[in-house]
Amino acid sequence: MTESFALSAVPSGARDAVLKFYFGPMDCGKSTLALQMNYNHGRQGRRGLVLTKHDRSGGPQVTSRIGLGLDAIEVVDSLDLVALVTGRDRIDYLICDEVCFYTVDQIEQLADLVDEHGVDVYAFGLASDFRSVMFPAAQRLFELADEVCRLQVEVLCWCGRPGLLNGRIVGGQLVRTGEQVVIGDTDASPVRYQVLCRRHHRSGLLGEGTL
Ligand SMILES: [Zn+2]
Repeated sequence: MTESFALSAVPSGARDAVLKFYFGPMDCGKSTLALQMNYNHGRQGRRGLVLTKHDRSGGPQVTSRIGLGLDAIEVVDSLDLVALVTGRDRIDYLICDEVCFYTVDQIEQLADLVDEHGVDVYAFGLASDFRSVMFPAAQRLFELADEVCRLQVEVLCWCGRPGLLNGRIVGGQLVRTGEQVVIGDTDASPVRYQVLCRRHHRSGLLGEGTL
């Protein structure tokens, strides 16, 4: 009785929009969750946009390692996200994948969309780079988001401990210096990334076969 009264007294359109940040290392299922969330909201008749940057497919798509995929809008540095959304008919929510690569200004724009335009923003990305230093966009999300969730979907270091950090491997060695963003894990790139536990990210040991 009390519950149903409370629910009906607050029209769904009157609640505050939210800014949520889901973070975790590579392969922890971020893109899969992003796609699932888009599907769920769409089923409720809500209208959203899916944004990404540097997706592993190399094109403006959100793809997940388990094989789901969806066309998405590529976020270039000059893109104004407020203008993008307000220029469209009615947008209820945004799914922002690979949000760690957005600019800090774009994170501010996401907060504006939540507060000024009532758009729910679900952001997904890495927290830290190959040095274990936080991406500027991720840091701003930690500061601004209503909710921050660490995703840990059974991604393990070679030693069996939970994988927490992304190592950048060049020529079989863990490297600790270089550009913050280098696309790897493609045929054309000498760079690959490996999820490691904190201990092995710090020691640089990469496990059997790569020692
Ligand atoms: Zn380990």
